[in-house]
Amino acid sequence: MNDAQLVKTADPKREGKLGPHGARLSEDAAPGHLAAVGLRKSYRKGHVEIPVLRGVDLHVRRGEFLSIIGQSGSGKSTLLHLLGTLDAPDAGQICFHGKRIDNVPNRGRDLLRNKHFGMIFQFYHLLPELTALENVLSPLLIAQGAWGYLRNRRKHVDRARQLLEMVGLSHRLKHRPRELSGGEMQRAAIARALVAGPEVLLADEPTGNLDSGTGEEILRILRTLNDQQDLTIVMVTHDRAIAAQADRTVRLAQGQVEVV
Ligand code: ADP
Ligand code: MG
Repeated sequence: MNDAQLVKTADPKREGKLGPHGARLSEDAAPGHLAAVGLRKSYRKGHVEIPVLRGVDLHVRRGEFLSIIGQSGSGKSTLLHLLGTLDAPDAGQICFHGKRIDNVPNRGRDLLRNKHFGMIFQFYHLLPELTALENVLSPLLIAQGAWGYLRNRRKHVDRARQLLEMVGLSHRLKHRPRELSGGEMQRAAIARALVAGPEVLLADEPTGNLDSGTGEEILRILRTLNDQQDLTIVMVTHDRAIAAQADRTVRLAQGQVEVV
């Protein structure tokens, strides 16, 4: 999917109509809007089918900091993976800028994900053999290939350094993940998630492995990114106090999203 297709607004004939679960499809057309309508997802374990999402409707506005709270096993990670097109739903749709993104073929999904979505996780998922700076650069190398990357290497390195400075890690550029604390690893992961200039940051329990003080620091970084750079953030957490720091919170329970 190219950008021109992505930013094309939704069919005006859909204005005002309700989706299968009562969500207003016309809202999907708003620029920067990320929406899930009627999402269903089950996992199969042998002959047993485990329903996880049973018709999830969710609208994320551009520039919003939304938290999704739910107990362990309620399907938070599953939902976040679907929103970021890491996995496909069994039924329902995901729309971004008014265009469906859940049914885009693999290559298009990779491009979309690289360019428009950044992700951070509870366990950081940094590459252990790379330095903090190289970890931040890695999505650009993957997206552009070696030649494309090398042509703009100076510019990329400057950007990666700026991001690492912004998250307070400019004194750890050459450190490998095992030489960093948990909070420092999450800072590097945030810089990596932002290096391609995404519109949306998807955060899966970003403070789940950190002590509360360090978790607060990570949240402050997320808040600043949201306030000052208009970054849309969707953060899942099982922790009410963490969730309360977002602009809005919804709860995932029994496979559906409810307003808190
Ligand atoms: P949460 O992030 O809220 O803890 P998850 O989305 O990780 O929940 O998982 C929801 C449910 O789906 C859990 O019961 C989990 O065991 C199950 N599940 C998650 N991923 C898989 C998988 N790949 N295969 C089978 N079951 C899975
Ligand atoms: Mg999870």
